[in-house]
Amino acid sequence: MIAPDNAIEIRGLRKRYRGGKGHEALKGIDLDIPRGSFFGLLGPNGAGKSTLINILAGLVNKSEGEVRIWGFDIDRQPRSARANIGVVPQEISFDAFFTPYEALELQAGLYGVPKPERRTMDILAAMGLTDKAHSYARALSGGMKRRLLVAKAMVHSPPILVLDEPTAGVDIELRQQLWEHIEALKSGGVTIMLTTHYLEEAERLCDRIAIIDKGVVVANEPTQTLLQRIDERELVLRLDRSVAGVPEGLRGFQTKTLADNELSVRYSASLHRVDEVLSAVHGAGYGILDLTMREADLEDIFISLTSRK
Ligand code: ADP
Ligand code: MG
Repeated sequence: MIAPDNAIEIRGLRKRYRGGKGHEALKGIDLDIPRGSFFGLLGPNGAGKSTLINILAGLVNKSEGEVRIWGFDIDRQPRSARANIGVVPQEISFDAFFTPYEALELQAGLYGVPKPERRTMDILAAMGLTDKAHSYARALSGGMKRRLLVAKAMVHSPPILVLDEPTAGVDIELRQQLWEHIEALKSGGVTIMLTTHYLEEAERLCDRIAIIDKGVVVANEPTQTLLQRIDERELVLRLDRSVAGVPEGLRGFQTKTLADNELSVRYSASLHRVDEVLSAVHGAGYGILDLTMREADLEDIFISLTSRK
């Protein structure tokens, strides 16, 4: 089969939990995860991220909509869909009495991977768990447990790996290691989708970011495009007299009068310099008593796009 352009395609996806308060956890999600991408799904708590991922994992039934995984419809071709995705859920559930080696063999059995095709030791090596292959899982550190979960999700060699909050509660050093392992999978051609609370992490790793809030997609852009919004600056000027119209030289800028003598000027830092703004204001005959500068970051964008205030 020819690899599809999109590893995952989601159309009109809705979810109402039975016994829930009647509100929809997902309200008509449309999302494409391009093949080969490192895709970040961000959103505040309760936004619906885990619901979406658990639908992909086959752990939650959708109420409406269509989902294709590697081109396979999850309703019509559930086995093929399942065979092409590995999911690491948010909740860690573990059988502490198996060794990582045994846990992977068991998982391979569940996925029907024939013995000669199993790559148990290779996968453990890729996740940095060779030394722990035959230790009991309860003896593993938190970071190792997360890596074991990733290893379990990879036993059937799926071309797509989905991780729900993989680094929540994992300390910085282990997080770093986990990312190195995941980036190695990505270099090997695996499409990665993840949710995370750490915006800097998403900014650094993901080539595309979608933000969902209350079950709705509020942004879905290449990370670079999203970061260009961060390029925006807001300069607030306190002038020596009331603002009477926008100064001539600021026609191309986004301006707003905040108070009688306060002017806000927004501009792109890569296109303009502060002194252009200042000379335009001086040129119009104003004196500047005070100024403050604000830079946006991913956090601001996140907050402005989600209704969390
Ligand atoms: P996120 O992972 O973004 O924090 P979730 O998908 O876990 O969000 O939750 C989305 C919404 O669905 C929340 O309002 C949550 O309370 C609700 N929800 C999640 N799981 C269940 C469930 N099993 N039964 C009822 N409501 C649920
Ligand atoms: Mg969640």
